[in-house]
Amino acid sequence: MDFRRGGWLAALWLAGAGAAGASAQLTPECLDDRSQILVADPDGRGALNIEYYEWQPAVMPFDRSTALPMTLIVRITGGATSARLTLSSGGGTISLNDLGQAPDVTAGDQLFTGSVPVQSILDRNTPERVNRPIMGQVQGLEAGIPTGPLVNVLASVMPAEARSIAVTTISATARRTPWVLNIRDDNYVNDNGRERVVGAAYAHVPDRYEFVHIVNAPRSLIANRFHGRIRNSVSGIGINSFDTGASYGSPAALIGFSVFPNLSFYDMHGPGVLHETGHQWINGLTGVFGDPRNGAHWPISSLANHVMGFSLAGGPGGTLNCQLSSNGSTLTTQATSSSTYFNSWELYLMGLTPTVPNAFTVTDQTAALNLVNQPNWCNGSTYNLPTTQLSQTLLTNTFGQRSPSFAISRKYFHVLTLVVSNGRTLGDDELRYISLMTARAQNRGVRPWAEGLVGSNGPNFFEATAGRGTLDFRLDGTFAGGFEGN
Ligand SMILES: [Zn+2]
Repeated sequence: MDFRRGGWLAALWLAGAGAAGASAQLTPECLDDRSQILVADPDGRGALNIEYYEWQPAVMPFDRSTALPMTLIVRITGGATSARLTLSSGGGTISLNDLGQAPDVTAGDQLFTGSVPVQSILDRNTPERVNRPIMGQVQGLEAGIPTGPLVNVLASVMPAEARSIAVTTISATARRTPWVLNIRDDNYVNDNGRERVVGAAYAHVPDRYEFVHIVNAPRSLIANRFHGRIRNSVSGIGINSFDTGASYGSPAALIGFSVFPNLSFYDMHGPGVLHETGHQWINGLTGVFGDPRNGAHWPISSLANHVMGFSLAGGPGGTLNCQLSSNGSTLTTQATSSSTYFNSWELYLMGLTPTVPNAFTVTDQTAALNLVNQPNWCNGSTYNLPTTQLSQTLLTNTFGQRSPSFAISRKYFHVLTLVVSNGRTLGDDELRYISLMTARAQNRGVRPWAEGLVGSNGPNFFEATAGRGTLDFRLDGTFAGGFEGN
């Protein structure tokens, strides 16, 4: 892989995904959740389709008896006769069957099931994986021949420290912890009925959260995370004012949602939540400031190697692991890892800094995209690519002053984490695990994170905004407390 672009931002935008219709502004499906999970059809035979996988239970507690293997279920349509999990690190293969042979329950329902030893999960649960060991790849077989796409399968392991998290049953269809609300909604995995599930949540919590995160479990869907705007009253950032809060049951507070369809990518100390939250305000700018590929990221520019990245052809996000410099007529490159801290332009649009410094964009974005698609392009070379200066004056002349201004903008945001489960409410340890992965958002300091197959070390939202913004993930946030600022 050419690490000068791609990485955790290489992504697919699946047009029209979801059922929100006109009742929210959807920003792109972001990052590489799907491309990391799904290995598209390497043999080209392609008749089979892997729709999702599911562990039973969804989360393995650290102290599960080794006499009780975990059950893995994979939904494969298209006529597979069997399936297999090829364990990582040369661990051999595990057969999955749809013949009604235990642990498979029902023959012929396209749910292929197998047993995975507890120890094989524990062995792969290394600290840098942050409780999400990479188990291997699953693939269907037709008449004994491996066929069609592979899916990377990760497990979730609840560590001992989560055992003390309190879980409360509210009703037959609702449970909660100090961090997450779980409601059962059997249709959500099929219809993406976000208005319905968020509306149902308000039977149990107040309309005091600016953001709702919709987390899906126990199924791990083969789908990207993404953000949608529910209302906007900020001007000067290229986004129109609108309000669809009522359709979510939120008369006042909610401004946006982020969807996390797969627990393998759910880490609230990771860059994914920073990026999706940033989409609430970024990037609705047009013209030289805009995303020429309609991905709501940055153009290929001096702004594209931070949290929001840039868009590849078609709109998927890419990480520009390259520092660009320009004298106006030529572009010089220097290899550097993309930052998981917001840059000044991102902070400005979010209302977290009063002004922006000068920046530049490559004037010919088609030529710029051709360049970054070449291997080893960011090797210190200089290219004959003119740039256009981006300045505060040009920004405000084009889009107006940001309002509310930095002085009075909101900087403290409450997050409602809504775990939507199909078939049942979640068990104590399942909710403790998701709570721990949520509570990590409150931890300051550079810490390990893992999203899908990749991981690194990085900041939480507070530190990624240089201490200017806060996401408060507590379900019972101190809504009236004096510390909130505004
Ligand atoms: Zn994005």
